[in-house]
Amino acid sequence: MKKLFVIISVSIFVFSNFKTQAQSCLTDEYFQKQLNNNATLKNEIINAQQGIRLAGHSQKSARANVRIIPVVVHVLHQYGSENISRDQILDQIRIINLDFRRQNADASSTRSTFQNVAADCEVEFRMASKDPQGNCTDGIDRIYSSLTNTANDASKLNPWPKSNYLNIWIVKTIDGNVGGGGTGGTVLGYAQFPYPGSGATKTDGVIIRGDFFGSIGTAANNGYKGRVATHEVGHWLGLFHTFQGGCNGTFPAEDVYDTPPVDVANSSCPASNWNSCTNDVPDLPDQTENYMDYADGKCQNMFSAGQKDVIDYIFQNYRTNISTVANLKTTGVYDTSNTALCIPKADFYTPLLNVCQGSQIKFYDNSTRGKVANYTWYFENGNPATDNSADPTVSFTKAGTVYVKLVVSNASGKDSVTKTAYINVISNISGYKSPWQFGFDSNTALPAELSTFTTNSSNGFKLNKTTGYNSSSCLYINNYNNFNPGDYCELSLVPFDMTTKLAANLEFFISYSRRSASSFDNLKVFASNDCGINWNNIYSKSGGKLETTTSQNSSFIPASAADWRREKVSLSGYQAVQNLMLKFTFITSGVGNNFYMDNINIGGFPLATTNVEIANNIEIFPNPTNGNATIKLPETIYNNTRLIVVDMTGKQLSNVLLPNNSQTFELGNIYNNTLSKGIYQLIFVTEKGSVSKSLLVE
Ligand code: ZN
Repeated sequence: MKKLFVIISVSIFVFSNFKTQAQSCLTDEYFQKQLNNNATLKNEIINAQQGIRLAGHSQKSARANVRIIPVVVHVLHQYGSENISRDQILDQIRIINLDFRRQNADASSTRSTFQNVAADCEVEFRMASKDPQGNCTDGIDRIYSSLTNTANDASKLNPWPKSNYLNIWIVKTIDGNVGGGGTGGTVLGYAQFPYPGSGATKTDGVIIRGDFFGSIGTAANNGYKGRVATHEVGHWLGLFHTFQGGCNGTFPAEDVYDTPPVDVANSSCPASNWNSCTNDVPDLPDQTENYMDYADGKCQNMFSAGQKDVIDYIFQNYRTNISTVANLKTTGVYDTSNTALCIPKADFYTPLLNVCQGSQIKFYDNSTRGKVANYTWYFENGNPATDNSADPTVSFTKAGTVYVKLVVSNASGKDSVTKTAYINVISNISGYKSPWQFGFDSNTALPAELSTFTTNSSNGFKLNKTTGYNSSSCLYINNYNNFNPGDYCELSLVPFDMTTKLAANLEFFISYSRRSASSFDNLKVFASNDCGINWNNIYSKSGGKLETTTSQNSSFIPASAADWRREKVSLSGYQAVQNLMLKFTFITSGVGNNFYMDNINIGGFPLATTNVEIANNIEIFPNPTNGNATIKLPETIYNNTRLIVVDMTGKQLSNVLLPNNSQTFELGNIYNNTLSKGIYQLIFVTEKGSVSKSLLVE
C-alpha cells in the first residue's frame, strides 16, 4: 500500500520502506494515475472485489478446461541487446506456463504454512500463430523504434486487439516516472489492470525490459528467473500486490482471503518467519513466496487459491472473449499439433554502417516470422559478393556506399530485403587532405564535410550567421533554450589524410558562458583511425574549464574576440593516418548556456621546421607589399602544390591547389580578396614537404 502513497508521502516511503529502493514494478503508480483520471474506476474495483467475495472459493477445484491465452510479443528495438532472441521469448512463455499451472520446479519450496493454499491457476499462454489479419505469425512482432528507450505507454506500438491477444511489449529501458508518481528509479515492467477505466484499449497489456524477460540470453543470471513476467501478467489478470492496502486494507487494498496482510513491499529473500502485520487472525507470516510481492524471483514460487478466484472472476467478467474456443481458433492457438510454418520475413543488420575499405564486418540475420532454411546474401563490391550463411563476414573492395540484399526462404516460401546505400565504405586514403580549415564565413549551410546528430531534434550543432571569431559566422548550439539534461549533440568531420599536414594539431576557437555554477555542459573530441570502429577521447572540458568568459543567467552571445579561446589538441599519434576521423560531442547539463565554435583547423598551422631547400627556392616579391605579390616556385615542386593563406590569428583565409605546369603566380589571382595591412603566412604544401613564408602587407 505504501507504494501508492509515494506520490503524497515520499518521506514515509523512503524511511519506512528503505529496503525496497530498487523499484521494480510500476503498476501501482500507473494505476494511481488511472484512479486520479477516472472517477468510476474506484467503484469498479469495489464492485469487482465484492463480486469475487460473493463468488466464494468454489473455483479452487479444477475446471474441465484450462483457459488458454493467445500471446503476441512486440519487441521494440534498435538492433541492440534489447532485440532478444526467439529462444529467449519462448523461454519466458515456458516459465509463465509453469508458474501459472504450479508446475514450477521450486513449488516444493513453498513453506508448509502455505502449501495448502498454493494454486494451479489453470491458465496457459500460447504464442499466436495468426495475426489480426489472419496472416501466419510466430507471435513475435519486431519493431525498429527508438521508443524502446525510456519506454512508457507511447512505446506500446502496433497493439493487437486486447479482446483477442495478451500484448507484451519488450523494451530496453522503462521511464521511471510512468504515471507521474514513480521515483525515477529502475523499473523492470508494469501492467495495465483489466478493470474498465484502468487505461486505454490500445495500451492494454504488459511492458517489460528485455533483459528481464525469460531466464536465458540477456536475462540469464539476473536472479529474477523470469518472474517479472509472471508478476506483471498477474496484474494483467487483475491481481494486486500482496502488500496493497498495507496491514489495515486501505483502498485500494488487495482483499485476497488467503494472502496474509503485508505492510510494505518485501525485497530480496526475507527470513522465513518475517511477519510485517500482526493484526490478522490467525496471525500468519508474510507470504513472501507469492509472485505478487517484491521478493527476488528465486524466492517466489506461488499464486494462492484466492488469487485464482480473482483471475477466474476477471475471465468471467472482463476478459471474456480471449479464451473462447472461437478466439483460440481465430488466433491459431486452438490446435497446436500442426501449426503452419510461416514464410520468413527477411531482415538483417550490422552495427557498423561506416567501415574502412578492406575491413571485415559481420552481418546478422534478423529475419522474423518463419524459421529460415536458406540464406542468400548479395554484397555490392563485397568480398565475397555472395554468401549462404546466416551471419556472414564480408569486406568491401571499393570506397563509396553499397547496397546489401538478403533472400531468405523455407518450405513455405521466400522473402527478400534490399538496403540501398546501407554501408559507407571509407577510402583508406581520404581525398580530403589536411591542412583544412572550416571558417564558415562563405557558407550559407553547414559545409558538406560536416554532419550532425542530436538526441534533441529541436537543436544540435548549427550554422550561426550573426556572430563568430572576428567574423559573423560560426557554429553554435542553442543550449540556453530547448535543452534537457543529457541531450547529446555530435559534429562529425569527413576523414582527412593527415600525411599532408603542416602540423600534427587540431585547433578550434570556442566561446561559452555558464548559466550558473551548476552548469556542467561537456565538450569532447574523439579521433578514430579505423573508420569509426574505435574512438579515442583526445579532448574533454566541462563547466568552468570549458567557460571562456564570466557566467551569465541570460542567453549568451560573445561580445568580442576576448570572449573566445583558441583550443589546441595534439594529433601527433595520427600523423601517418590517411583517413583520420574526428568528431565533437557536446552533452548538456540542461542548465547551461549557448556554445559557439569557429575556425576548426585540422593540421593547418605552420610547421615548426621548414624544408630549407624548398624554402630557399620559393620567391615572393615584392615583400613587403601593398597587397599583391608575385610567387615563383622552383620547377621541381610546382606540380600538385597547395597554397594556404593564414592571418595573424591563425585563421585560414584560403586553401587552393595551384595550377599545374605553371611556375609563376600573381597572389591577387590566387587569393581573390585584397589583403589588408598585417602579417600573413603563405603555406606551400608540396609533394616534397611543406614550408611557410611570411608576407608583410603595408
Ligand atoms: Zn507489480
